[in-house]
This record gives sequence, structure tokens and C-alpha cells, in this order.
Amino acid sequence: MYIITDKCRFCDTCITVCPAEAIERTYPIYRINRSLCIECGVCKENCSFDAIIFI
Ligand code: SF4
Ligand code: SF4
Repeated sequence: MYIITDKCRFCDTCITVCPAEAIERTYPIYRINRSLCIECGVCKENCSFDAIIFI
């Protein structure tokens, strides 16, 4: 599953590119809603801060 780490700089790019609207602007760190995520990896590919990891 994909996870947003504390390297996130809240640029919102991942939210824009996610085809499943699975990323939520939660505080203090954005969260990927696992029930919506289709694990396409597009968010990770587009994060300029390397803040999204797959575990
Ligand atoms: S693209 Fe990366 S830095 Fe930007 S909001 Fe998403 S996880 Fe954070
Ligand atoms: S892996 Fe795909 S569906 Fe899941 S949060 Fe990232 S962009 Fe959205």
C-alpha cells in the first residue's frame, strides 16, 4: 500500500493527479484512504519531494 510520509510539503500535486480521489488533506499529514486507493502509483511518480512510499 502507498503511504504519505513526513517528507510531504503539502504541494497538493498528488491530490490533483490521483484518479481515485483517495488522498485526504488531513492534519498533520495527508492520508491515503485505503478503501479508495487503487494502488496505481501515480501519486508517488508525481511527488517532487519523494514523500510517498510503497510498503
Ligand atoms: S505530491 Fe508529495 S509533497 Fe505534494 S502533497 Fe503529495 S505527498 Fe505531499
Ligand atoms: S496510488 Fe493511485 S489511487 Fe492510490 S492514492 Fe496514489 S494516485 Fe491515488
